[in-house]
Amino acid sequence: MENEHYPFYNTPLPYDYNALEPYIDEKTMHLHHDKHLQTYINNLNKILKENPELQKYSLKQLITNASRFSKEIGTGVQNNAGGVYNHRFYFSGLINDPDNTISNSGELGDAILQSFSSFEKFNKELKKSALSVFGSGYAWLVCTTNGKVRIITTPNQNSTLPLNLIPIIAVDVWEHAYYLKHFNDRGGYLDNLEKIINWDMAEYNYINCPRARNNNC
Ligand code: MN
Repeated sequence: MENEHYPFYNTPLPYDYNALEPYIDEKTMHLHHDKHLQTYINNLNKILKENPELQKYSLKQLITNASRFSKEIGTGVQNNAGGVYNHRFYFSGLINDPDNTISNSGELGDAILQSFSSFEKFNKELKKSALSVFGSGYAWLVCTTNGKVRIITTPNQNSTLPLNLIPIIAVDVWEHAYYLKHFNDRGGYLDNLEKIINWDMAEYNYINCPRARNNNC
């Protein structure tokens, strides 16, 4: 991932704003990337500008060390560094390509079958978890220390990294991710999202889990 250090800037989407149509609409992508993510970037830069001793940390290091900072700074870093990392991860994990399917996901597919017994059950479980997030947050497919995969949820912009769980797939269930198109129907958004998960990227994330864990930063 580029731009890992202060000053942070809004790296472009890896596809056009309308590339995920009809599953995610162009207007939502503009607002989500250009406004919501930009706000997290601005807020994070402001915190780091006021606390230059933190400027040496990478984005991941800020997230994993946030609990060691003073309460006020730590909360701001957790919310805003988390907001930057989680959104970049979410956007890069989507693609509109009918050939990019879960059944072609190789080693990750094997790990999913081991944990969930079928892709159908996995999809059901991911949707159920994403629906269960109360208020704003994320559902994640993560890799544990023993190389197994599991689904967890995090509130707000909390990251899985402080839990020593390496993210593989992110599902943003903040209302801003779907409200313009789906209003309050989070399930409708999740059904569309299932069709545009970038399984090549997820597979890459899974294979790189040990490296990501050792080089957690
Ligand atoms: Mn979001």
